[in-house]
Amino acid sequence: MASDKRLVATVNLRTLEVTIHSSVRFKCVENCGRCCRELEIPLRDEDIERIEDLGYNAWEFVDYEKSFYRGDKFLGYAIKKNPVTDECVFLDPETKRCRIYRERPLACRLYPFVFVKHGETMEVYIRMDPFCPGVNHPDGEEVTGEFLLREYGDIIREYQSKLGNVQKKR
Ligand code: SF4
Repeated sequence: MASDKRLVATVNLRTLEVTIHSSVRFKCVENCGRCCRELEIPLRDEDIERIEDLGYNAWEFVDYEKSFYRGDKFLGYAIKKNPVTDECVFLDPETKRCRIYRERPLACRLYPFVFVKHGETMEVYIRMDPFCPGVNHPDGEEVTGEFLLREYGDIIREYQSKLGNVQKKR
């Protein structure tokens, strides 16, 4: 689904200094689950391996007919939808809870944020999806450097740790 996205911040991956570019608030409305229906979620190889470790087979949750590219770079296949509910196969239709929440794919963990790495800089975007009531929710938290490092510090540090390897390959 095409979506507007706004640049919220950039993170210097060497220093973890965060520069905020636009003001936005966010609060996930628990159990809303609209993103589990509306989005097509890309799976990285690491996501597939983690979910397989839970005892699922890839054919149960990978939709090999839908793939994602950034430019000509293949990013991954999509997570399958339940053909009856059109929701993610891992969403419990009764409770609206994710069955693999702790091991969910990176894209689910980040949503509605999208991280795009350019060299030593991580650009942080927010998708302005009209179906997500959390974006600019009146009780939402202002997205600041502190917010990003608290919520996603482990992911940002993972990208940071790969930086050395990337530099060596050049
Ligand atoms: S659509 Fe937005 S508010 Fe609803 S569960 Fe997803 S991230 Fe949270």
